[in-house]
Amino acid sequence: MTVRVRIAPSPTGNLHIGTARTAVFNWLFAHHHGGKFILRIEDTDLERSRPEYTDNILAGLRWLGLNWDEGPFFQSQRLDLYKTAVKKLLDQGLAYRCYTTPEELEALREAQKAKGEAPRYDNRHRNLTPEQEAAFQAEGRSFVIRFKIDDDREIVWNDLVRDKMVWRGSDLGGDMVIARASADGIGQPLYNFVVVVDDIDMQITHVIRGEDHIANTAKQILLYEALGAAAPVFAHSPLILNMDGRKLSKRDGVTSISDFQKLGFTAEALVNYMTLLGWSPPDSTQEIFTLEGAAKEFSFERVNKAGAKFDWAKLDWLNSQYIHNMPVDKLTDLLIPVWQEAGYNLEARERPWLEQLVALIGPSLTRLVEAVEMSKLFFSDTVELSEEGSKQLQQEGASAVLSAILAALENQPEFTEAIAQEIIKQVVKQQNVKKGLVMRSLRVALTGDVHGPDLIQSWLLLNHLGLDKARLNQAISL
Ligand code: GLU
Repeated sequence: MTVRVRIAPSPTGNLHIGTARTAVFNWLFAHHHGGKFILRIEDTDLERSRPEYTDNILAGLRWLGLNWDEGPFFQSQRLDLYKTAVKKLLDQGLAYRCYTTPEELEALREAQKAKGEAPRYDNRHRNLTPEQEAAFQAEGRSFVIRFKIDDDREIVWNDLVRDKMVWRGSDLGGDMVIARASADGIGQPLYNFVVVVDDIDMQITHVIRGEDHIANTAKQILLYEALGAAAPVFAHSPLILNMDGRKLSKRDGVTSISDFQKLGFTAEALVNYMTLLGWSPPDSTQEIFTLEGAAKEFSFERVNKAGAKFDWAKLDWLNSQYIHNMPVDKLTDLLIPVWQEAGYNLEARERPWLEQLVALIGPSLTRLVEAVEMSKLFFSDTVELSEEGSKQLQQEGASAVLSAILAALENQPEFTEAIAQEIIKQVVKQQNVKKGLVMRSLRVALTGDVHGPDLIQSWLLLNHLGLDKARLNQAISL
C-alpha cells in the first residue's frame, strides 16, 4: 500500500500556523513512508473563500518547503462528483430531504434547552411519505439533505495519536445535514460530506488533521460506510496553545505564516519549530532538523496527546541558530529584500560590500528584520548621536584624537584592516592617551553610539563608501 495523505486548507484566511503544522506532519509522514502528499483547496464555502487566500496558502506552503506531489485540487471544480454521491445516498434511502424550517428548528432547540438537553435534530422528516413531501414543496419550503445517523450506532476507530476512540450515534446531534437546498433538488454539498467523497476519490490512506476535527471524524466514518468505502486511518494532532494554555487564536496576534515571515523568521527555523510542536524526536536532545531529517525519524508514537504550547523564545532561539549558521552568501540574499522593504538604497552598494556587512551583523541577528536597525548607520549619510555618544565626544582629548585620526587618514592611499590598526596605535602614542579613549571616540564619530558592531570592520565598510572622513569632520565640529 502506498501511503497517501493530504492537506486540505479552506481559503477563508491566510495560511494559519495550525494548518501549516498539520501540513508539516502530513509531509513528514508521507516522506517517512515514501508516500504521496496531496494538496486540496476546500473552497466549497463560496461566500468566505477568496482567491487571494488561496495564493497566500500556496505561497506559504512553498516558502516552508512543503512541496506537494499532487494538486492543488479545487473542490469548487468537483461539484458533479459530490452531487452524484448525494444522489446515490438519496436513492439508497440513506439520506433524505428535510423540510424543517429555521423557525421550527429554533423552537426545537428552545424546547430542548428548557429540558436541559443538548441541542439535536429530532429526525422528524426521516420517513416522509411522497404526499407529505409534495405538500411541503407546495408550501414553498426549501430543504436540506440529511444523512441518517442511528442513535445506538457505536463508532470506533484506532487513532494514531489518541488510541481507541469510541463515539455513539447519539453524540452526533441527530441526522446530519450533508447538502443545502439548490435548484436541482440534489443540494449544495457541505464540508463533512465532500471531504469524504474526496478522500475516497483521492485514495487517501491516512487522514492527519487537528484535534478539533474529532467529532467530524465520527460522522465521516459513517459516511465512508454508506458510500461503500473503507475508512482511512485517522491521526488527530494536538492543538497549538498560547502561553496561557488556550487555543492559539487570532486574538494572539500573529497566527499566519506570512506574518511570521514578515517578523523575520526564516522558513527553515519556522518549519523546524513546527515539527517540534507536538512531536519529539527519539533523541530528545536533538532540536535542529531539516524536513528530510525529521521525516526519517517521524512517527505518531512520538506525537503528544496534550496541546503544544507555542514558545516564542524557543522559536527565536532556533531562528538565531539558522541565521548564525547560514553561509554569508545566502544570508545576504535573505537580507536584500529586508533592506529594500525598509527603503534603503542598495544601488550604490556592491555585492562584496553587502556581504562584508552581513558577515559583520549576522552573528548578532535573531530575526532578519533586526538587520534594518542594525545596519541603519551604513545606509544613511548622517549619524544619529546618542546621549552617551554625545558625552563621549565631550571628553577631554576626544576632539584632538579625532583630528589626529583624520590627519593620519589623509596620508593613506589605500585603507586596510592593518592600516586601521596602525592608525589607532599611532594616535594613542602621539596624543599620549589611553587606547580606550581613541576607540570610543572613533566609534561615536563613525556610528553615533558607544556600542555596536566590531569597530574596525565598521570603519572599513564606511571607508569604502567614503563616509568616514565626513563623519570624523562632523564629530570634530560638534
Ligand atoms: N478544510 C478543513 C480545514 O481547513 C480541513 C479538513 C480536513 O483536513 O479534513 O480545517
